[in-house]
Amino acid sequence: MTEQQTLGAPVEYAGKALHSGVPVFMRLLPAPADTGIIFRRIDLPGKPEIPATVEHIVSTNRNTTLGNGGAQVMTVEHLMAALRGMGIDNAVVELDAGEIPLGDGSAQIFVELVCKAGIIKQGVPRRYLRLKNPVWVSRNGSHMIAVPADELKITYTFVTDHPVVGTQFGEYSITADVFGRELAGARTLVFGKDIEFLRSQGLGRGGDLDCVVIVDDDGYRNSLRYRDEIVRHKILDVVGDMGLLGFLHAHIIAVRSGHELNKGLMQEILRQRVSEDGSADR
Ligand SMILES: [Zn+2]
Repeated sequence: MTEQQTLGAPVEYAGKALHSGVPVFMRLLPAPADTGIIFRRIDLPGKPEIPATVEHIVSTNRNTTLGNGGAQVMTVEHLMAALRGMGIDNAVVELDAGEIPLGDGSAQIFVELVCKAGIIKQGVPRRYLRLKNPVWVSRNGSHMIAVPADELKITYTFVTDHPVVGTQFGEYSITADVFGRELAGARTLVFGKDIEFLRSQGLGRGGDLDCVVIVDDDGYRNSLRYRDEIVRHKILDVVGDMGLLGFLHAHIIAVRSGHELNKGLMQEILRQRVSEDGSADR
């Protein structure tokens, strides 16, 4: 049996948020078995909690935002990727603002926080969400299919006619080792021509050259951490979004998917799921 895991101790981090640009103080706390991941807005009256589940997604516009009542938390995907990628089932994430800090634009900071906290086993079996049949979604030329598998494996094709980025392909079986080494450090891509548009929409105010990969038609503005950093980041985003399902065992094959299609696939998986480990079919 694989046991559920939580953090060994509380850890904290202060940083700036990507989209809202505000300073954020964040604490990651251990939580009992079967808690899941819970966000807690300590700046709001009554300290409302927002469970990290598909049902609580309220926006997928360039980030994944969760909400519960009036309380929201933006840009949960990189933290969720680090928690699930490192095998954390249960944790409480306290925040004094409505967005997760950006860190360095990847999941690296959050992986380091988890390592600093330590990981402890909780003596209760983890329940994996498994598929019996393939599940797929397609919208506007973007596609995702999830097929039954005994692990979480993600195959991603990033398709663009951009002269510098090109088409990128990646495939990883997601273990803590692979996540930490191959995916956690990959940053978000922003096309140089989109920066003004994003700012006009009130998004991306906290981003700077160190936190995102910016590409223009004649080249990257900053140096890359991986030659194929873009597709690795897209896979990181899939790990984070799928983390809202808990721990999924499936092979996900994605072409040009983003947060909205990730949500669509998760909704289809929940609709069609037929069994979970440790529980009767439902
Ligand atoms: Zn991302």
